[in-house]
Amino acid sequence: MKTAIVAGGAGFIGSHLCEFLLKQNYKVIAVDNLITGAAKNINFLRQDPNFSFMELDINQKLEELASFPIDEIYNMACPASPRFFSSMPVFILKTSSTGHTHLLELAKSKNAKILLASSSEVYGDSPLHPQEETNRGNVSSIGPRSCYDEGKRVAEALSMAYHKEYGVQTRIARIFNTYGPRMSFDDGRVIPNFFIQALTGKPLSIYGSGDQTRSLCYVSDMVKGLFLLMQSSEIMPVNLGNPDERSVLEISKTVLDTCGKANELIFKVVPEDEPKKRKPDISKAEQVLKWSPHVDLAAGLSYCHSYFTTEMNR
Ligand code: UDP
Repeated sequence: MKTAIVAGGAGFIGSHLCEFLLKQNYKVIAVDNLITGAAKNINFLRQDPNFSFMELDINQKLEELASFPIDEIYNMACPASPRFFSSMPVFILKTSSTGHTHLLELAKSKNAKILLASSSEVYGDSPLHPQEETNRGNVSSIGPRSCYDEGKRVAEALSMAYHKEYGVQTRIARIFNTYGPRMSFDDGRVIPNFFIQALTGKPLSIYGSGDQTRSLCYVSDMVKGLFLLMQSSEIMPVNLGNPDERSVLEISKTVLDTCGKANELIFKVVPEDEPKKRKPDISKAEQVLKWSPHVDLAAGLSYCHSYFTTEMNR
């Protein structure tokens, strides 16, 4: 039986990944400092004897993990919502640099594979569309998103350096917008915001004119992609996401249809440095991993509808 560490295991994607790995017959150790992750995301897994949780910050030394045999490390740990880019930029940069280095050292000492959850944010506000892995990006090193974007870029550089210098088996997933149950209510991102607004009778907040685009990937598709990438031998970055590109206005209307509501829309200022268009080119994932997403937006949003409705009535 293999053992996987999921750093950020109590977070949104991390908790789904823990659940998926347990189903693949892994022993799973979720590590999280619970700054943006939540114990409720993983409490239901605690009865599984193959699951354990350690409340740890990867920015601290990880001696507690040294006694375990480890085969795979997934680094999903980093506050990812633009809301946190202004409230904890130093912590975000540290987590992607110091924290990721600690996990790379652990992988090196255990001869374990390590997958970095990188991000489409490494492309910044790119004029090239859709974004393919060869795109070097258009990122501000000093702007409001720089803590996250440059953090992920340095984390990628660290992974490559550990691979080149020490032969560590590194994997880099460039994750595009992902949604699904367990996104936190106060996350500030488009899907939780629109659902909560729709279900509480408030106007849906559209930033700018709403013609900016995103391509939304349902979380179950994402975790399968992450797992397949870990099992592959691909060292270079691989985009994971759903290429079904929609405008924010279209997304707001689809959420309203899903909820059977007709709330008004309210137009607000668009955040500085925001990418105007985002769509992954997933040809590489299709070829190398034989992976592509299967859950369409209508189905994914209906799963979210059940989740947000249930959580709001708790
Ligand atoms: N957005 C919006 N209203 C909201 C939240 C987000 O119009 O209440 C827009 C935001 O401007 C962006 C897109 O939705 O263009 C996705 O934003 P999110 O914060 O989810 O993630 P991002 O892709 O920007 O990291």
